[in-house]
Amino acid sequence: MASLTAASRLVVKIGSALLVDKETGAFRGDWLRSIAEDIAQIRARGTDVILVSSGSIALGRGILGLPRSALPLEQSQAAASVGQIRLAREWEEALAPHGVVTGQVLVTLEDSADRRRYLNQRATMETLLGFGVVPIVNENDTVATDEIRYGDNDRLAAQVAVTVGADQLILLSDVDGFYSANPQQDPAAFRFEQIDEITPEIEAMAGDAGSGLSKGGMKTKLMAAKTATAAGCAMAITEGSVLHPLQALEDGANATWFTSRLDPHAARKGWIAAMKPCGAVIIDAGAAQALGQGRSLLPVGVTGAEGSFGRGDPVAIRDQRGATLGQGLTRYTAEEARRIVGLHSWETEAALGYPGRAVLIHRDDMAL
Ligand code: GLU
Repeated sequence: MASLTAASRLVVKIGSALLVDKETGAFRGDWLRSIAEDIAQIRARGTDVILVSSGSIALGRGILGLPRSALPLEQSQAAASVGQIRLAREWEEALAPHGVVTGQVLVTLEDSADRRRYLNQRATMETLLGFGVVPIVNENDTVATDEIRYGDNDRLAAQVAVTVGADQLILLSDVDGFYSANPQQDPAAFRFEQIDEITPEIEAMAGDAGSGLSKGGMKTKLMAAKTATAAGCAMAITEGSVLHPLQALEDGANATWFTSRLDPHAARKGWIAAMKPCGAVIIDAGAAQALGQGRSLLPVGVTGAEGSFGRGDPVAIRDQRGATLGQGLTRYTAEEARRIVGLHSWETEAALGYPGRAVLIHRDDMAL
């Protein structure tokens, strides 16, 4: 059975209905302070935490005095703009007393669909986590129009979990798990404790009703589970409205866990290995040895670049005799790579005319 205490990198998705009272529209400050304590405790045992927090539109709606009915796109985007700044401040003020620094990350669907932007996002997140920061993520609702929106933070959270290589994703929801049918309509409905495989039967069990404030119903949660588990990340759905919801989950609160047979590291390597390379980099014997020891590929070990590739593209890694050693996602274009072959990291700026990345292919972006 999966357990939250085992997480080394945790993404927690917080729905709007948890932060904003459905009836009164009031902000639930006590609840926020209680989960902030849980988060601080989880951080203190060395687990990286990323929060995907909804609530910008719900908060902005109240501040602007807009009705609770569905809003036209421009108005919900305006509400998101007003609400997001408040949302970020609430998180900062709740976590700061525990010595936890927060950072805001607003993303759109394009940021993960485009490999270059995805790698950029990943690098920034990694840097934030390295500083011990808790990133507070939401969709950039103000600029995302319907065609390019996630629209629901369940799938956004799964995408974030995949991007940062999280091993667990917790969806704090208004239901305590995944049911065989809608428990409000079917007295025979039962909750699954654990789902190891999302079969067509399981998919057929997800209705599509969302709650009043949040966008995602069970269908989007199941899509999130598919995305997460395919990348080696386990996912739990649990009831979030109680005070200290993460502590409650650790103490055995009702939940459904979707398990994964993979680990995030292996899943990512498999993903990289399965791509069709756009070109190749040729490396010397010293670099080949370094890669074998799990190190990144530096420009100094590269003797040539073939083909035309852009930043973030998959390229084959070949040795001097033409044997393919593996492949990886490059941080330089083919043209840039050719300009910096054989150079030490401190020499690349002069060759390029701008400061470049330290490595050509990072070891995390490489499958040998
Ligand atoms: N991004 C939206 C917001 O912050 C929430 C989407 C959702 O409820 O899933 O208001």
